[in-house]
Amino acid sequence: MKRIVVIGSGIAGLAAAKHFHSNNFNITVLDKGKYPGGRISTRKNKEFIFNHGAQFFTAKSKEFKKICQLGVKDNVLINWNTLSKKDRFIGNPDMREFSYWFSKNLEIYQETLVERIEYHDTFTIITNNKKFTADGLIITAPASQTAGLIKNLDNQIYKLIENVTYFPCWCVMISIKDMNLKKFEIEENSIFSWIISENNKIKNSLSGNCITIHANEKFSLDHLEKNKEFVLDKIIREFTKIYKVKNSDITYKNIHRWRYAKVKNYFPLEHSKISKIMPLGIAGDWCPPMFYGDYCVNGQRVEDAFLSGVECSKTLINKYFKQILI
Ligand SMILES: Cc1cc2nc3c(=O)[nH]c(=O)nc-3n(C[C@H](O)[C@H](O)[C@H](O)COP(=O)(O)OP(=O)(O)OC[C@H]3O[C@@H](n4cnc5c(N)ncnc54)[C@H](O)[C@@H]3O)c2cc1C
Repeated sequence: MKRIVVIGSGIAGLAAAKHFHSNNFNITVLDKGKYPGGRISTRKNKEFIFNHGAQFFTAKSKEFKKICQLGVKDNVLINWNTLSKKDRFIGNPDMREFSYWFSKNLEIYQETLVERIEYHDTFTIITNNKKFTADGLIITAPASQTAGLIKNLDNQIYKLIENVTYFPCWCVMISIKDMNLKKFEIEENSIFSWIISENNKIKNSLSGNCITIHANEKFSLDHLEKNKEFVLDKIIREFTKIYKVKNSDITYKNIHRWRYAKVKNYFPLEHSKISKIMPLGIAGDWCPPMFYGDYCVNGQRVEDAFLSGVECSKTLINKYFKQILI
C-alpha cells in the first residue's frame, strides 16, 4: 500500500487525506498545532467559547454541500441562515467540533512541526518529533511556510508561491459579565471588521457574554508587528468606548494574531499545483482549483481550501499513482 503524508490538518489537508484514505492509501497527517482544523478553530473552557478563526462557512459546490449535510445529520454543524443569507454553516457547539468530526478515522500527529523534507525516490519528512517516510506528499501549510519547505524540492513551484499574499487579522476575545448587548453595528470608519457574541450564535450555559472581535485589514496590517499587549489594549479601548462597556466588567481578555488570515492574491490558477518532477502537490485556500462546476473561487474561504484539497489529491493520484478513483 502506498504511503502518503499530508502536511497540515486544516480543512485542505483533511479533505486531501480523506480522499486518499477512501482510495486505500496509507495516510498520515502532520500538523504543528494542538488540534486539527487550522484556521477553523476554537478556544474554550468551562467559562468561555471563542471561535477565533473562521466564524462560519458557506457551501456552494456540490461536493462541499454534501459534507455539510452529513455534518448537519451528525449534529456537528447547524444551518445558520441569518440576515437572509443562505447555505451558511456553523459548528455545533463550536467550530472545533466540526474539525474533530471531519478528521475522524485519519492518522494525525498534532504538535508535529515539519522542519525539512528530502526526496530520493521517496520522501523523508523531518519533524521536531520524528522522521516519516512517504511515496507521495501534499503540503497545505500557508504559502510562505510551504515555500520554505519546498525550496529544495521544486524550484518552479517555489518561485510561483512568491505571488501569493495574505491579509493578517488581529482577533480579540473578551468575556463580559452582565452584558446583554448581542448585536454590534460596525461603522464604516471603524477599526473592526466583525464582532459577534458567541452566546448569540448557539444556546449555551456560559455565565459571561463571550465576544469575538476581528480588527479590519488596515488596522491588522498597520499593527502586524506591534506587541500583543499593546494591540489588545488599543482594541479594547476602542470597543469599550463605542459599545459603552465598563472595563471592570471585562472578566477575560485575550488576543490572537493571524498572520495569514485571508488570501489577497492566490497561486496563479493556470499553473499546476502538482510537481512535474516528483509526487508532490500543494493545496490550501491560497491555491484554489481553476474550475469547479458553477462554483466561483476567491481563495478566501473554507470551501476554497476544501475543494483545493480534493482537487490536489485527485490530480496527484491520476498523475503518479494510477489507481482507480472511487
Ligand atoms: C480570522 C479569520 C476569519 C475567517 N473567516 C472566514 C469565514 O467567515 N468564512 C470562511 O469561509 N473562511 C474564513 N476564514 C478563512 C478560512 O479559515 C481559511 O480559508 C481556511 O480555514 C484555510 O484552510 P487551509 O487548510 O487552507 O489552511 P489552514 O487552516 O491554515 O491549515 C494549514 C495547517 O498547516 C499547519 N502547518 C503550517 N506549517 C506547518 C509545518 N511546518 N509543519 C506542520 N504543520 C504546519 C498549520 O498548523 C495549519 O493547521 C477566516 C480566517 C480567519 C483567520
